[in-house]
Amino acid sequence: MVSTAGKFGPYSLAGPYSQTGPYSQSGADLVRSRIALQVRLALLRPGDRLPDTGALAEQLGIGEMTVRRALEGMCQDGLLDRRRGRTGGTFVSAAFDAVVPAHHDPAAAASAEAFLLLLECGLVAHASGEVGEADLGSLRKLVAEAEEAGQEEQAGQEGERERETRFHLELAETLGGPGLRAVTADLLGRLALLAPPPGPEAIRRRSRCHAELLDHLVEGRTDRAVRAVKDHAIHR
Ligand SMILES: [Zn+2]
Repeated sequence: MVSTAGKFGPYSLAGPYSQTGPYSQSGADLVRSRIALQVRLALLRPGDRLPDTGALAEQLGIGEMTVRRALEGMCQDGLLDRRRGRTGGTFVSAAFDAVVPAHHDPAAAASAEAFLLLLECGLVAHASGEVGEADLGSLRKLVAEAEEAGQEEQAGQEGERERETRFHLELAETLGGPGLRAVTADLLGRLALLAPPPGPEAIRRRSRCHAELLDHLVEGRTDRAVRAVKDHAIHR
């Protein structure tokens, strides 16, 4: 395992989030992107109730007032619903998937994708030849699951998107540690709102890039590993 954990201090979620460097975003943006990512990962589904603001604030390491304001903004945008009364609370809007396209922003999406691409190229070049097969267990498992699902006609698209997203979170954690996983989570969460999800064909092509990437990484073929990351980025 290449241990870069701790070397990326400014990106750590432990500190104040305003110090997140080149793509700094507000606490409210962080709340948005984290909720969008949880929906993409099916950890939250349309209609589900969110944890209370105190719990969310603690999870994200930001103030409760910021979380409250962010949730209000998301309610106004139609991404969340607030219900009053004893069974009330804040819920993921039942119409979440229908509302998201109103938030698509090609320029902002291209900028987040470019940043993610640079991050992954750097991580992969840094780790190439230094990771062993033993480090890649969960990544290999995700690739194998994607291949199996690809052979089944009835494979659910949501499951494929979820797996595609998980691969990148897991890759960042394996090669860069928890701080880089957090940066990747923010980028993927933002992209879940800013860009349409990849279609089935793009996901299949990306899965092939994942498999090649892991092989090249283990063998220390840095140029080909970086090429696999770049090839992946062209499949929308
Ligand atoms: Zn991918």
